Amino acid sequence: MASALSDRLSRIVKEMRGQARITESNVSDMLREVRMALLEADVALPVVRDFIARVKDKALGQDVVGSLTPGQALVGIVNRELAATMGEGVADINLAAQPPAVILMAGLQGAGKTTTTAKLARHLIEKRKKKVLTVSGDVYRPAAIEQLKTVTAQAGAEWFPSTPDQKPADIARAALDHARRHHFDVLLVDTAGRLAIDEALMREIRELHAVLNPVETLFVVDAMQGQDAVNTAKAFKEALPLTGIVLTKLDGDSRGGAALSVRAITGAPIKFAGVSEKIDGLEVFDADRHAQRVLG
Ligand code: GDP
Repeated sequence: MASALSDRLSRIVKEMRGQARITESNVSDMLREVRMALLEADVALPVVRDFIARVKDKALGQDVVGSLTPGQALVGIVNRELAATMGEGVADINLAAQPPAVILMAGLQGAGKTTTTAKLARHLIEKRKKKVLTVSGDVYRPAAIEQLKTVTAQAGAEWFPSTPDQKPADIARAALDHARRHHFDVLLVDTAGRLAIDEALMREIRELHAVLNPVETLFVVDAMQGQDAVNTAKAFKEALPLTGIVLTKLDGDSRGGAALSVRAITGAPIKFAGVSEKIDGLEVFDADRHAQRVLG
């Protein structure tokens, strides 16, 4: 069984007890442990490397050298760096736009976009008292449009019909027009995903972005994706100005290292976490709490 970062760190604190000074070799030993623990939590390698380099810089600086308890000082640096990378506190959804505030959902097929669209609709109805319309731009899978219809009804929101013979940009325009005329506060736009990144998908979602001018463009990513989350995040970040991330399937047994990777790669705050398949299985993401989960 993999040993969690917090266990590894407390072992280091013990080993270093009684040492008056920290040496470069102590720091290297500790950083090796941190590196192992982050990789075990499924944080992507380039993100781990950057992280280690930053901790090393600080550890070899005045923060640790000369400290009364060098082990604890090192642990403090790791914890602070983890919190800074994860983003501190809670980032709320932004609805500051001329209504309807448009929220565009992006991500690979199976990431949880449709489920999250409905969960978010429910969240906005219950917590923010908004009138919410959903629409699906997934013209490739009729079942996806039907799925959104079903889950939107569960959320108590309204659903705007679309059909596979329409162009996604036309669907977007029609939904926007409907939302305006019927005074919806929020329009949630679910989009087509693919099993892997492809250029046609990216072109299509960029076009949707241009038509909709969304106040939020949320990248939905499966926490179980682990190392692969980085490549997906990179591709979506290059295609779209992402304003936030939703990390789904955090109820799975992953240690949630994908959060650190995706956040580091996109620079966008993680706004929500999916914690079950059910309509109420969405939580506002708490970065500090999640940092503890990655620590194990
Ligand atoms: P999409 O292709 O991106 O629209 O993905 P879906 O919304 O259809 O979700 C794919 C699968 O993941 C479905 O079986 C969902 O029930 C499931 N799912 C989505 N979010 C979560 C979550 O937070 N936790 C769990 N356990 N399952 C989820």
